[in-house]
Amino acid sequence: MELRFSEAEESLRSDVRGFLLDNIPDLDGPAGPGGSGESSADDFEKSKEFNSKLADRGWIAPAWPTEYGGLGASITEQMVFNEEFGYHGAPDTGTRGFGVGMIGPTLIIHGNEEQKAEYLPKITSGEHIWCQGYSEPGSGSDLASLQTRAVRDGDDYIINGQKIWTSGGHRANQMFCLVRTDPDAPKHRGISFLLIDDIKNTPGLSVRPLINMASRHHFNEVFFEDVRVPARNLIGEENRGWYVGMTLLDFERSGIGTTAGQRRTLEQMTEHLQNGGSHKRQDYRLGLADLVVANNVAKYLGYRIGHIQASGQVPNYEASVIKIFQSELGQKIYNYGIAMLGLSGQLIPEEATAPWGGDMPEQYLLAVPSTIYSGTNEIQRNIIATRGLGLPRA
Ligand SMILES: Cc1cc2nc3c(=O)[nH]c(=O)nc-3n(C[C@H](O)[C@H](O)[C@H](O)COP(=O)(O)OP(=O)(O)OC[C@H]3O[C@@H](n4cnc5c(N)ncnc54)[C@H](O)[C@@H]3O)c2cc1C
Repeated sequence: MELRFSEAEESLRSDVRGFLLDNIPDLDGPAGPGGSGESSADDFEKSKEFNSKLADRGWIAPAWPTEYGGLGASITEQMVFNEEFGYHGAPDTGTRGFGVGMIGPTLIIHGNEEQKAEYLPKITSGEHIWCQGYSEPGSGSDLASLQTRAVRDGDDYIINGQKIWTSGGHRANQMFCLVRTDPDAPKHRGISFLLIDDIKNTPGLSVRPLINMASRHHFNEVFFEDVRVPARNLIGEENRGWYVGMTLLDFERSGIGTTAGQRRTLEQMTEHLQNGGSHKRQDYRLGLADLVVANNVAKYLGYRIGHIQASGQVPNYEASVIKIFQSELGQKIYNYGIAMLGLSGQLIPEEATAPWGGDMPEQYLLAVPSTIYSGTNEIQRNIIATRGLGLPRA
């Protein structure tokens, strides 16, 4: 068993790192997990420029085939990119998170040749910014109960209904969504997977903001009133979209960039203790050591996901393991960081005297929902119990 990156991979890492140090823009807001929608309009434009520099180098989706704008890099090389992007807080518009991380690999598995040729190059060029239309007001964990209806009408589907919690929907120009095409079939068998193009200019589709508890506009509600979508935008077979949608969720849960970002925070906290008073060092050193141990565990769990992907398989319950571990660890790290900084550690970025620019409470607030999105941690535990341990459903 070899748990080291090769010399060539380490050399790639230093190239990527050098590029990021030279090119990451100064943002007012945090790059954020997935990056989409948490930034100001100005930050978003800077993130777009940054992504187009990545696109020029084929670095948006390095592991994709060259015909789709990638470099044909190995999964391990892709992991190097992801780690460096996460560690340095590289911003994103939604292109890398939703595009490369979710809809792209799903299209590579389930899309037809026309769909791959149409959509994949627009992800790697940074032109298409995707959002995810899965959740509805009455359908979150029980996603298969979704009610947004799509009815076939000639060469189109006509969609009516509502999505909610659509991250970055106000920035995106494309949406992938799950819709009900057969209301009479058993709930998992009447769902289809559709792509909606140019959502900002689609008649009948409206995006309305929802402000989160960090006072940021991250989420949206999306309403559909007789929205026409060409039937050629169906991915896979009609009424078989549930299985397409679930492939996508397996990709959604396999990132390792977050762990690298948490490592950077732990390094900052270590530096703070090294430079601070001896009382504080005494109080926080052991707790910090525990968090560093856990961060290393998260790193190797992430490498395991990469290994599964590199062997040509799609991670399943293994991705649930890392999702639970990493999200709960993130909350502990930021919570500990706030305590370590003392009372002023609670000051938000708008306060001029906030230590570290108020990053710690901001990151804490943004980490709270991480145990909810991508499928809640309770649902992930159910997946591990059933698919991983072979236990019967409760
Ligand atoms: C930051 C963030 C970003 C998001 N972005 C998107 C997005 O871009 N697109 C999108 O479509 N959705 C998005 N979501 C929505 C997310 O997928 C849902 O919030 C999530 O699936 C949970 O659904 P819910 O909120 O309806 O909670 P519910 O499903 O109502 O769950 C409520 C509680 O009950 C528990 N629970 C439910 N069922 C079970 C069960 N069977 N066993 C044990 N416990 C159970 C849950 O774990 C949870 O604690 C986002 C959410 C967040 C927080």
